Amino acid sequence: MTTFRSWRVHDQDGTFKGQIEDQSIADLPPGEVLIHVSHSSLNFKDALSASGNKGVTRSFPHTPGIDAAGEVVSSDDSTWKAGDRVIVTGYDLGMNTAGGFGEYIRVPAGWCVRLPANWEGHTAMAYGTAGLTAGLCVDKLLRSGLTPQQGPVLVTGASGGVGSVAVELLAKLGFEVVAMSGKADQESWLRDLGATQVVGRDALTPSRKPMEKPHYAGAVDTVGGEPLATVLKQIRPEGAVAACGLAAGTDLPSSVFPFIIRGVTLAGVDSVEIPQIRKTEIWDKLATEWRCPKSEQSAKTITMEELEPALSAFLKGQSVGRVVLAHQGAIQG
Ligand code: NDP
Repeated sequence: MTTFRSWRVHDQDGTFKGQIEDQSIADLPPGEVLIHVSHSSLNFKDALSASGNKGVTRSFPHTPGIDAAGEVVSSDDSTWKAGDRVIVTGYDLGMNTAGGFGEYIRVPAGWCVRLPANWEGHTAMAYGTAGLTAGLCVDKLLRSGLTPQQGPVLVTGASGGVGSVAVELLAKLGFEVVAMSGKADQESWLRDLGATQVVGRDALTPSRKPMEKPHYAGAVDTVGGEPLATVLKQIRPEGAVAACGLAAGTDLPSSVFPFIIRGVTLAGVDSVEIPQIRKTEIWDKLATEWRCPKSEQSAKTITMEELEPALSAFLKGQSVGRVVLAHQGAIQG
């Protein structure tokens, strides 16, 4: 019986602790496609799962990892065959289904998308769920009709996974990008990714004013809460905001004024439950005309042994850029 290594989180009387364990294929949940995972990546939601957030993961022990890239070992569904290289992101992976922090996963056929032909597993996970989400945010802004001629676009949480890919992608598409970050030491990296201006989080200090000076034509917001409410007040007429995150909070203490006075569009972004075909569309763009080489190159690669501190950095808002988990035998990608 094949055994493999997993990073499993245990609930020790309310304290959540991860450890490396040997598991067998029989321990995996039922599913149509068995995948040998070469790489996963670290996302904010993994940090929530690993720290016992019951909104993400209900029962423990559990293997987090909301995304994975690897090779199909066997499939009960004719869409996939042994040897196919696939990406799995979202749906229930790593939430209540054992995820990519194990060397094998077993999932429904409908959760898999084909790995772009010119990519290795490491490349896919250098983007991972965060990169896919950044692509979806930019796609929402473009669908709203936003063009570079309308003015600067703000990216909040810019040094994070979603934010950093969004900065590079928007700059690549010709937008003037203003990166908002709480990490002053990341300014030169954010400028290298393509930001023309880097501002601190105090650029979105909440005020009682119903509306503020309209600085930005659009925004990618990864943090939610008060900062998102303030962003909305600073958007120019007919501008748009793509909102995907909650790092600063889940409440949105806003009014209707940005919508009814300036015609601002607030577009929600979900990368988890959207149809497979929509994910494929964005992955294919990221592998071709939307490719972000600087984000790929700056992604940090870690092993299972290094997961614990890397995950806790997310909860402290200290994680920078993308972090790829390489499984044994796949360190070089
Ligand atoms: P990261 O932790 O990598 O990035 C979040 C960034 O937000 C931090 O690096 C930090 O950037 C900033 N930040 C953190 N805490 C605060 C705070 N209290 N106030 C203001 N800014 C803060 O996470 P990801 O990039 O992986 O994810 C970003 C968000 O998007 C998360 O909320 C995540 O849950 C969500 N998400 C949603 C998805 C969807 O499908 N809707 C998919 C993927 C992610 P800085 O220091 O530069 O300010």
